Amino acid sequence: MLSRPFPRCHNNCLAETYILLNDFRRQWADTGEDTLRAVEEVGRSGWYVLGERVRRFEDALRSYWGFSEAAGVASGLDAIEIGLRAAGLQSGDRVLTTPLSAFATTLAIVRAGGIPVFCDTDATGRIDLNEARAALQAMPGIRFFVPVHLYGFPIPAGDLGSLIREFSLVCIEDCAQSIGATENGRPTGQAGLAAATSFYPTKNLGALGDGGALLTNDSAFAESVRCLRDYGQSAKYVHSQLGWNSRLDEVQAAILSAAALPRLARWTGRRREIARRCLAQWPSAAAVPLGNALPSEPGCEPCWHLFPVRTNTERKRDFMHHLRAHGIQSGEHYPALIPDQPAMQGSSFACFGPLEAARSIAGAEVSIPIHPYLTDEEVDAVVHAIRIFV
Ligand SMILES: *Cc1c(COP(=O)(O)O)cnc(C)c1O
Repeated sequence: MLSRPFPRCHNNCLAETYILLNDFRRQWADTGEDTLRAVEEVGRSGWYVLGERVRRFEDALRSYWGFSEAAGVASGLDAIEIGLRAAGLQSGDRVLTTPLSAFATTLAIVRAGGIPVFCDTDATGRIDLNEARAALQAMPGIRFFVPVHLYGFPIPAGDLGSLIREFSLVCIEDCAQSIGATENGRPTGQAGLAAATSFYPTKNLGALGDGGALLTNDSAFAESVRCLRDYGQSAKYVHSQLGWNSRLDEVQAAILSAAALPRLARWTGRRREIARRCLAQWPSAAAVPLGNALPSEPGCEPCWHLFPVRTNTERKRDFMHHLRAHGIQSGEHYPALIPDQPAMQGSSFACFGPLEAARSIAGAEVSIPIHPYLTDEEVDAVVHAIRIFV
């Protein structure tokens, strides 16, 4: 079935997997030349942090995404944290969010001084807006909201906007996984005050290191973010706030502009093609795509950051071992709920209800490869391996 041998890993053992979740070697073969040229230009320019190339990248990103402002920061974590602070979060303010996400979503809230309030998800893994409404009614006075477009599945913007207006919420949308996702042609992140995103290498728009950004149509908010990311400096040697060192490097901005952003539409198109190819020939009732529920949302076009499927809890390990035996790497997003993490035990938070839907996804979800450098043969090999999982 697999015609090429398994690649060898750095210590010359046989690599355990062949079809990877992210194939950075293939990506480099495609992007390396553009990347090296970008690095060379930055080196020659003599300006390495928050300069002309960061400004140009911010411009390109905001126009790609349809915002009037973008501000680069050092990571996705920082984007959420700085976004909350720029939005006026004070120590002790409660922040409604999801228990099923990268830990960074909640870490940003806690680091900004907020108290996370977790409410349950729906069957696709995104925060359940009916549960969110019930939580906001049961716990009056919550002003801040950090929803996540998990897996690159867009949360319907109309429903999100209604909830924001109904409860006068200040909303920072976590779009770390949803660059390129649209609903009726509209990108995610525009229902609230700002979109926070990440350029971590595995993300759909990945740098050669860390990076992140906030996007908004509110120019005062954007100015506050630019001040906070640079020690809270509003003018040279004038520190009007206690800020961060969360600046974006010229090298990362140049690489994102020259090698990543020009390929993003093609990459997103390829991810969608792979998702369609998998869903069209889905072979198994023993493992079901979480994205199956999406076709009932008209106009919903995920960017397929991940392709999550659910088995049942007892068979999750077997399923992952089965895939690995067929040379296929798989992942878990995410195996434990954030409020159950050890780090949360010493910190204050609240849960609205037992979080049953999120907990059942955490126990049963497995992510299969969907990166844009997969060949059709590899996609079919993944589907075949799932077909013979009994
Ligand atoms: C990756 C990720 C983050 C954090 O981004 P970093 O750049 O790694 O700090 C936050 N939220 C979600 C949903 C993510 O996937």
